[in-house]
Parts: sequence; structure tokens; C-alpha cells
Amino acid sequence: MERDWSEEQDLLRRSLRDYVRDRVTPNVLAWEAAGEVPRSLFSDLAGLGVLGLRLAPEHGGGGLDFWYTVVLLEELMRCGSIGVPVAVMAHAEFATMLIDRYGSPALRAHYVRGAAEGRLVGALGVSEPDAGSDVAALRTRAVRDGDAWVINGSKLYISNGTIADYITLAVRTGGPGARGISMIVVPADSQGLTRRRLRKLGTHASDTAELFFENCRVPAANLLGAENDGFGMIMSGFEGERLVLSVMACSHARLLFEQARAWGHERRAFGQPLLAFQVWQHRLADVLTRIEAAEALTLRGIDLYVRGRPAQSEISMAKLFATETARFAASECAQILGGQGYMEESLVGRLHRDALAMTIGAGSSEIMRELIARTNQLVAK
Ligand SMILES: Cc1cc2nc3c(=O)[nH]c(=O)nc-3n(C[C@H](O)[C@H](O)[C@H](O)COP(=O)(O)OP(=O)(O)OC[C@H]3O[C@@H](n4cnc5c(N)ncnc54)[C@H](O)[C@@H]3O)c2cc1C
Repeated sequence: MERDWSEEQDLLRRSLRDYVRDRVTPNVLAWEAAGEVPRSLFSDLAGLGVLGLRLAPEHGGGGLDFWYTVVLLEELMRCGSIGVPVAVMAHAEFATMLIDRYGSPALRAHYVRGAAEGRLVGALGVSEPDAGSDVAALRTRAVRDGDAWVINGSKLYISNGTIADYITLAVRTGGPGARGISMIVVPADSQGLTRRRLRKLGTHASDTAELFFENCRVPAANLLGAENDGFGMIMSGFEGERLVLSVMACSHARLLFEQARAWGHERRAFGQPLLAFQVWQHRLADVLTRIEAAEALTLRGIDLYVRGRPAQSEISMAKLFATETARFAASECAQILGGQGYMEESLVGRLHRDALAMTIGAGSSEIMRELIARTNQLVAK
């Protein structure tokens, strides 16, 4: 996205661009076939100093702001496989930021450092079979038993679920509703935890799992912050998560647009390039206009967020518009490729099916509209 990036951010971008071009892009088809990214991705990114960009410096993080995450995301998105940035973000931003923010010194020393150094991989476990958009309805229960929490229940659609070493888990420790939820860090080798990888339509390089907890015992000290304070923690993480999705969606749409434009100049039909037909000039003009608008909304949301200003409405608009734009771009850009746009071997084909999840994860489009309505006095009393 266009802005005045600092020299340090430009440097970071250049080293990431080389790394992604040489070490990620050539491997993405193999990673998609495997259904996961390799551990070396995390250790390589840690080696480049970009795995814990926003994590605390005293535990190996960079202590930097979200603009650096934007650079990381934009460069990772160039690999053309959305599962790669999803795996990295689920680890560094979603699972570990909460431990960094709310964990005890001992939890931070172990998990935040391990995460920033790429030795440990994390996942965030909130969604359940009967509680997705409605987080406050979650049922997985943790009961205190001496110096342990005993957890029973299940989680669904958890990114990094089977490859993670720890899960930052939302559990019910109190009564019904938002006030009875806590966050607990669950080591993945805990007895009573089993994991099953799910088969998805896209984002294949990202492992997505169902987790089952059966009398799973976790040290009492693994609680984040105070008991029953978890809902606020989850909500505090959502702004960053939604901006991550917004940035990914803008990059995704740009990649599609660039591919479609190149194809439109090269591919000929009825004796002329496709972009000689006004219909394709106009359709791609619409795609580009939406991308520019999505980027402007996203930049605005990030700017407010980084400055610590209230930004729920702007971030919701950015997430809504950018992810809907990615889906629109995917559909239009796949169409101009004709049969190629439907092929697994074609980048546009893969970007097309990967775009589908963006309007669902980290709060669906319908939930974004709810938040926009609520924060802008659109709900009749
Ligand atoms: C690829 C992928 C990765 C994911 N990774 C993670 C992860 O790492 N950790 C995690 O915890 N979760 C993860 N999720 C889960 C994701 O957050 C949920 O799928 C999402 O919150 C929606 O929940 P749901 O699927 O249960 O749908 P539901 O909440 O059942 O919603 C179904 C439909 O109803 C709509 N709807 C719901 N409420 C309303 C309303 N009030 N008004 C109007 N419409 C409404 C929704 O928008 C949606 O269209 C992931 C999901 C996917 C697809």
C-alpha cells in the first residue's frame, strides 16, 4: 500500500522480498499439498527478526508497531498462497500477542520468547461447533482442581491447530455469557488433548483443525490475567486480527488484478487482445477502483489503531470492504482467465478459491455490518 514508509521499513521489505522469492514461493505448491507450512518457515522468519515484530523486546520481540506487520504481510502475500501468512499470523499475532499482553512473567518468558525465536508455534482456539460469531456462547469448560485446570469440550476451525506447540484457549470458567470466559495457555502435549486436521476448500498451506479436550489437565498458572476476564482479551485482539485480514485482502486483490491485467494484454480472442474489448477494460477498472478504496479504508483503520485512537467502526469497514473486494476481484479476475482461472495450476485459480475464507474469519461480513451499525447509531431503540 502507498504511504511514506521509513528507511527501516523499506530495508525490512527488501530482505523479506528476497526471502519470499527465493525460499517461500518456490515451495508453496509442496506446502499446499502437505496441508501445512514447515517449521523452518517460523525459524527462518525468526532469523530475519520478523516473527515477533510486535512482541515485547525483553522476550525477544521487536516492540514495533503494526506498520511493520503490514510490511511482513504484504511481502508474504507475494508468495501467492494465503495459507502461508495465515499460519504466521495465527502464531505471532493471534495466539502470542494475548500471552504477551496478559500473561504472567513466567508464561511470557517461556511462550513469548519461544514464539519470537521460532522454537514454539502457537494457535488461538476460540471458535467451537456451536459458537463462532457468537463468542460469548462458547461452552468448552475449565474447572479448577488443585493446582490445575481440567478442560472438557472442543474447538473448531483452529489455524495451526495440529502443528502448534501451544494453544491460547478460550474456556468457560464462570456462568453463561461474556463474563464467564477465561483464557488459558494449553501445551499441545497435554494429556487429554487430541487434534484432527480438517480438509478445506482453500488456504491449503495453513493447517486448520478440530481440537478435543477430555479431562485435559493444564497448570493453574497458565491462566492469562484474571479468571473470567477472557472475553475482553479476545475482543482486544480482534482489532489487530481484522486489520491483518484487511491488509491480506488488499494484497490478495492486487495480486489478482496484476495477473488479470497481464493476461488481458497477452491473451487474444477474435484476433485481438482481451483488453482491446471495452468490457474488460471496464471490469478491471472497477476492480482497481475497489482495491484503491479498500486500501484507503485499511490505511485509515491502521493509522487510528497505531495511534491508539478508537477505531472499531473504521476497522470494521476496512475488514468488510477489503475482504468483499478480494472476493469480487477473485471472481472478475478468474473470469478473464477463462478456463485457466479454474485450474489448480493457475495462480489466479488458487487465489480465487483462497479468497472465500476472508469474509468469514476474524468476524464475518455480517458481524462487521453489525459493528458498523452499532458504532454509528444505526440501531433503532
Ligand atoms: C480458514 C479458517 C480459519 C479459522 N481460524 C480460526 C482460528 O485460528 N481460531 C478460531 O478461534 N477460529 C478460527 N476460525 C473460525 C472463524 O472465526 C469462524 O468461522 C467465524 O467466526 C464464523 O463462525 P461460524 O463459522 O461458527 O459461523 P456462524 O457464527 O454460525 O455464522 C454462520 C453465518 O451466519 C451469519 N451470522 C452470524 N451471526 C449473525 C448476526 N448476528 N446477524 C446476521 N448474520 C449472522 C454469519 O455471518 C455467517 O454468514 C477460522 C475459520 C476459517 C474458515
